[in-house]
Amino acid sequence: MAGSFGPGPLPDSADVVVIGGGVVGCAIARELSRFDLSVVLIERSPDVATGTSKANSGILHAGFDADPGTWKARLNVRGSRLYAELSEGLGIPRKATGSLVVAKDAAQMETVAELRHRGIDNGVPGLEIWTRDQVIAHEPNISPDMAGALWAPTGAIVCPFLATVGFAENAIRNGVRIVTECTVTGIDMADRQIVGVRTTRGRIATRFVVNAAGLHSGEVARLAGDDSFTIKPRRGEYILFDRSVGQLVNTVLFPTPDKVSKGILVAPTVHGNVFIGPDATEIDDPEDRETTAAGLGGIIAGARRIVPGLPLGTAITEFAGLRAAAGKDFIIGPSPAARGLVHAAGIQSPGLTSAPAIGEVIVEMLQDVGLRLKPKASFVPVNPEKPRFHDLDRESQALLIASDPLFGRVICRCETITEAEIVAAIQSPCGARTVDGVKRRVRAGAGRCQGGFCGPRVTAILARELGIPITAIRKDSIDSWLFLSRATLEAGEASHA
Ligand SMILES: Cc1cc2nc3c(=O)[nH]c(=O)nc-3n(C[C@H](O)[C@H](O)[C@H](O)COP(=O)(O)OP(=O)(O)OC[C@H]3O[C@@H](n4cnc5c(N)ncnc54)[C@H](O)[C@@H]3O)c2cc1C
Repeated sequence: MAGSFGPGPLPDSADVVVIGGGVVGCAIARELSRFDLSVVLIERSPDVATGTSKANSGILHAGFDADPGTWKARLNVRGSRLYAELSEGLGIPRKATGSLVVAKDAAQMETVAELRHRGIDNGVPGLEIWTRDQVIAHEPNISPDMAGALWAPTGAIVCPFLATVGFAENAIRNGVRIVTECTVTGIDMADRQIVGVRTTRGRIATRFVVNAAGLHSGEVARLAGDDSFTIKPRRGEYILFDRSVGQLVNTVLFPTPDKVSKGILVAPTVHGNVFIGPDATEIDDPEDRETTAAGLGGIIAGARRIVPGLPLGTAITEFAGLRAAAGKDFIIGPSPAARGLVHAAGIQSPGLTSAPAIGEVIVEMLQDVGLRLKPKASFVPVNPEKPRFHDLDRESQALLIASDPLFGRVICRCETITEAEIVAAIQSPCGARTVDGVKRRVRAGAGRCQGGFCGPRVTAILARELGIPITAIRKDSIDSWLFLSRATLEAGEASHA
C-alpha cells in the first residue's frame, strides 16, 4: 500500500487502524510501518499535532519522576534513549540541555535526594546532587535563594510538532495512509471481536484498532463498549518569550515537585525561545484551551521564584495545553471489552518523551492479540534532510539561493524563513494544509510578530501550492477559514434575514 496524507479517500479495509494523529498515534504508526501490513491512521483535524501534542513543554524528561515499575517510568527512560538515536535521522530538532530540579531548603533537598534514588531505580544515568554554588555557576540568572538541585544530564528538549511530523512523515514514506478530517464515530464488533471502524468518511473493515485519541480516548473506548476509564482534562497555561532573551537559562529548571504536578518551569526551547509554565487546572471541556488572567498571574509568580528577573516585556504569546488525565499511570494494553482493540490512552506527561517507546510496546501487544508481523525489507528509517536557511552560514545560504531562487525570498522576517522552505513544507509527504501547519513545520509566523506580517503571504503560497482558492485556506482547525467568499456571506445574510 502506498502511503498518503490528506482528507481521503478512506480505504475499504486495513490490517490495523490507528485512531489519533498526535505524537503517540504517529509514533505507533511509524513502528507498525516496519512490517508488511496495511496501516491507516485516522485523524479528525486537517493536520497531525493539533491536540495535546502541539501545546506542551517540549521536554524529554530524564525519567526520575514516575514510580518504578509503572509504564511511565519504563517508557520514559526508553523513549528518551530512542529520541537520542532517532531524532537526527527523522529531522526532529533536539538539544541535550540537561535538567535541574531546584530545591529551596533542606526539606526540599530531601525530596530531591528521593528523586535521585527513584531515578536510579528507573535506570536514569548520571544523576547528581549539585550544591548551590554549582547551580549558580551553571545558571547565572537563577534565584540565589535556594539550597541546591538534582542534575539530570539526560534531560533534553525537543520540538513537539516536528517530533509528531517526523514520525508521521516516516510512517507515510513506509506506506502508512493518514486520513485527515475524518472522525471515528463507531466501532463494529462481532462476538466481541473488532470487525470495523465507522467514520465521517465511511467504514473501514479491520480486526485491529489502536486507540490513541488523546483527550477523546475514553469516548473511543466506549464506542467499543469499554467503559474501563474516563479522561478528565487538566489545563496547563504558558507564556513564551522572544528569542532575544533566549540566553536567560541554559537548561530546564524545575521547582521541587508536589504530588499533582512537576510545578512551574523556566526552560529554553529548541528554537532559542524561553517559556514559563504550566499550571494545572481541572476542567470539563476537552476543547477549552483558553488562557486566564489568574492562570498567567500564577505562573509568573511561580517562575519568579526560580528566575526573579523574568523579562515580561519580551513575552510574544501565551497558550494552553490539556493533559488527558485518567489516573496515575498511562492506560496501555488490550481492551477488557473488545478483542483487537489496544489502548494507548490517558497519555499525560511524559507522553511526548515516551511516544517512540509506546510505539514499540503497542506493536508487541498487537502481536500478542493475533496480529501477524513480517518485517518489511524496504523499510526506510529516516527522512530526507531539509535545509534550515536561518541556521546556515552565509556561504551555505548563497549556495542554496543559487540552487533555488525561492531561498532568496524571505517570507517570515522574524524567523528568516524562506519561500523555498514553505513550499517544501507544503509539498512534503506529510505536507502542511493550513497556516498553522506551515508554522509548526518551518516556524513562519512563530516569531515576535506571530504571523502579523507573513500570515497573508503564507496563505497565498498555500493556495497556490495546493491549487485551491484562497477562501478554502484555514488557519488550523477544520472550520477555521480565514476568508469567506461573497457568495457564502450573502447566503449567510439571506438565512438571517
Ligand atoms: C501542559 C502540558 C505539558 C506537557 N509537557 C510535556 C513534556 O514536557 N514532556 C513530555 O514528555 N510530555 C509532556 N506532556 C504530555 C504530552 O504532551 C502528551 O502526553 C502527548 O502529547 C499526548 O499525545 P497523544 O498523541 O496521546 O494525544 P494528542 O496529541 O491529543 O492526539 C490525539 C489525537 O486524536 C485525535 N482524535 C480524537 N478523537 C478522535 C476521533 N474520534 N477520530 C479521529 N481522531 C480523533 C485528536 O484530534 C488528536 O489529534 C505535556 C502535556 C501537557 C498538557
